[in-house]
Amino acid sequence: MKILLATHNENKVLEIKRLIENKNIELITLSDLNDNEEVEETGSTFDENALIKAKHFFNKYNIPTIADDSGLVVPALHGAPGIYSSRYSGGNDDDNNKFLLKNMANITDRSAFYSCTICYFDGLPHYFNGKCYGTIGYEEVGDQGFGYDPLFYIDNRSLAQYSMDEKNKISHRGIALMKCTNFLRQK
Ligand code: IMP
Repeated sequence: MKILLATHNENKVLEIKRLIENKNIELITLSDLNDNEEVEETGSTFDENALIKAKHFFNKYNIPTIADDSGLVVPALHGAPGIYSSRYSGGNDDDNNKFLLKNMANITDRSAFYSCTICYFDGLPHYFNGKCYGTIGYEEVGDQGFGYDPLFYIDNRSLAQYSMDEKNKISHRGIALMKCTNFLRQK
């Protein structure tokens, strides 16, 4: 069966292709369809945003579609940056990290988690969630990963000090993907 992967992020495409290779599934991507459309994320949760993207491209191409949405959640900041993770400071990843450090300057509860929802839409939505728990450090360390990884610590190391393989085994996206691919294998 054909499944459309509705992301413009080539890293995600490679990751997902690797996880479901050799299965009875032909994965096609938006770039295979020469589609550069960015769908506005107007939802108020990760689930809603993943659904908006998956449903949009299912309706456009009539192909079962996978889309995802993810972000960092800091309970002491009332859930921020959450669904606004990529646009938290209005700047790039580095600006976001500086802004997070500034906003947490007087906060001692540093606990945080990443959350990822993958939505597979085939006329009905199917949701797969993954979470990854850690703490927000006081300085940026490491040069792997992306986004908030230099500030996100697990076991005294920032996620930017984990190799990609190590990170994929424990990450919110890796966990959600594993659940999704297990579901698709049964199709
Ligand atoms: P998206 O799901 O690719 O739109 O990611 C949303 C945003 O959440 C990213 O731009 C990052 O700021 C943050 N984020 C999501 N996953 C990760 C991760 O694995 N590491 C670091 N930041 C992440």
